[in-house]
Amino acid sequence: MPLMRPLTSPRRLAVASLVAAALTAALLAAPGRAASKAAAKPAGKKTAVEKDAEAFLASVTSLIWPVSTTTANVDWVAATDVTPEHTGERTGADKAYAALVGSKVIIEKAKAFLAKEKQLDDLTARQLHKLLLAAAETPGTIPAVVAKRVEAESRLAATLDGYTFCLQPKANVAAGCARPTTANEIDNLLKKSRDVNERQRVWAASKEVGKVLKPGLVELVALRNQVARELGYKSYFALKVADYDMSVDEMMKVLDDAIATTKPLFDGLHCWAKNTLAARYKKPAPKLMPAHWIGNRWAQYWPTLVEEANLDPLFKGTPPERIVKSAENFYVSLGFPRLPASFWEKSDLYPVPPGLPRKKNAHASAWHIDHAEDVRSLMSVEDNEQWFSTAHHELGHIYYYISYSTPEVPFLLREGANRAFHEGIGDLARLASEQTPYLVQVGVMPAGKEPDPKGTLLNSALQSVVFMAFSAGTMSHFEKDLYENELPAAEWQKRWWDYVGQFQGVIAPVPRGDDMCDGCTKTHLIDDPASYYDYALATLIKFQLHDHICTKILKQDVRACNYAGSKEVGTFLKGILSKGATRDWRAVMKDATGEAISPRAMMAFYAPLVEDLAKRNAGKDCTR
Ligand SMILES: [Zn+2]
Repeated sequence: MPLMRPLTSPRRLAVASLVAAALTAALLAAPGRAASKAAAKPAGKKTAVEKDAEAFLASVTSLIWPVSTTTANVDWVAATDVTPEHTGERTGADKAYAALVGSKVIIEKAKAFLAKEKQLDDLTARQLHKLLLAAAETPGTIPAVVAKRVEAESRLAATLDGYTFCLQPKANVAAGCARPTTANEIDNLLKKSRDVNERQRVWAASKEVGKVLKPGLVELVALRNQVARELGYKSYFALKVADYDMSVDEMMKVLDDAIATTKPLFDGLHCWAKNTLAARYKKPAPKLMPAHWIGNRWAQYWPTLVEEANLDPLFKGTPPERIVKSAENFYVSLGFPRLPASFWEKSDLYPVPPGLPRKKNAHASAWHIDHAEDVRSLMSVEDNEQWFSTAHHELGHIYYYISYSTPEVPFLLREGANRAFHEGIGDLARLASEQTPYLVQVGVMPAGKEPDPKGTLLNSALQSVVFMAFSAGTMSHFEKDLYENELPAAEWQKRWWDYVGQFQGVIAPVPRGDDMCDGCTKTHLIDDPASYYDYALATLIKFQLHDHICTKILKQDVRACNYAGSKEVGTFLKGILSKGATRDWRAVMKDATGEAISPRAMMAFYAPLVEDLAKRNAGKDCTR
């Protein structure tokens, strides 16, 4: 989903102050009826407070909605045609939107209504909570702090975007770089190179930017905390967690339970991976894996270890259009509608042809421009497995948008049941798209040429189980320490590596200086802060929904499960998607699967791997 990145443009700001003035006038003129004295609302009858709150929400929505659409359109242009001018326009539009949503009158009115929450309908209270959470990001009560945060964020994002990675500095370091490189080239080298010395150079080059980003991030952590405290949150981490209606302790408990449950499986994967890589690089097996041995800059998953699980050859030569179409067909076969014509007209789905000057954002994303029919996706689809599964994932977001854009779901609740649900639905479709019987049915995989299911399962665990250690472990604990515990900046580097060792079983190739900030190199710390646990929860949700669909609806093996053509699966999914954020996510989960969020289904999915890994690791030293 698009991030709101607020910056500056005089034209948009003028619009913003006009809108804000109109908003204040409209809201102050809203019915000022005295609040009902009743302690709780009588069943089936609207209280006076409820009626006032509804009128307030109607005014706010009618003001915010069009500005939100304008902002999304400007953001879309900035992402699909990257120029300094478009970036400036996005900056202004985002700032205008933030000023509107964080305006003082909204905060005061929403708080006043929520003080009488018992007299409100659930749907009304939920909208007011969402409104306050959005306002808490940019409270108009402390405009100077908000402006400083916005400026620090854009400065830091620009530093990261404009950074040149360097594989070989000039002999005189101050003279610059003799061999500049890109993040893409670094990723490719870490996937392909078999030369350990080269790998170490590349890995170290990828971490240099951390030192540059650290002072800005230190400043930002303080500013974000200041912003969050304005509306009474202990820290910015607590504000982001509040969107789940959870405390920080409750969130950390869910994450720690998931880590503890998946740890035996993780330990088996760790032992197998370090022995396999030691053999590959002709080194003795270490206790902890050196970070530069792994095919990902943060070791967040461990790719390239299972050769036979590479499905890229199956997609070679497939026209990219057919890859996106087949993802649409997947949803249509479940009973979802065809994508609107505007999706195909307005999306930006393929790489910019070589030789053209236009630059577009490299990350795949799905956009809900007007919170109604205008849905678009930004991708760069090519003929490989990654884009086949990514297309299924992005269209999961798109069908979520379409499903909750109904009169039953108010504008402010046109979101996932929580942030993780939106990702979880996309990831569910990705998981479904990787199932062997589905690949055979859609003609991607020739029947009789199915890969060894053991290799496929191992490869999948090296993604999902390993990712839990990074997302629920390292990232969530590190960011919690930064915001909630205000960890002194001098200790950041040591703490990061303590967590990488503890959760991921990985060690830096050589001791790293305290002035470096290897954690700061993860983009999310800069532009999507304090919410990486979204991805950990999405992983749990994905396996729980998949487990329910395969065992209860389709009555198939969870590891060889074909959704395609099942209207029953479609009905089940629509039941979740069409609610948006109108219900508590825990109730949505319970109603859908009969259980609370947990790693149970994930562990059931990988159950056969436990014995397989025990065999593979027999006689090996697994201590760390
Ligand atoms: Zn996604």
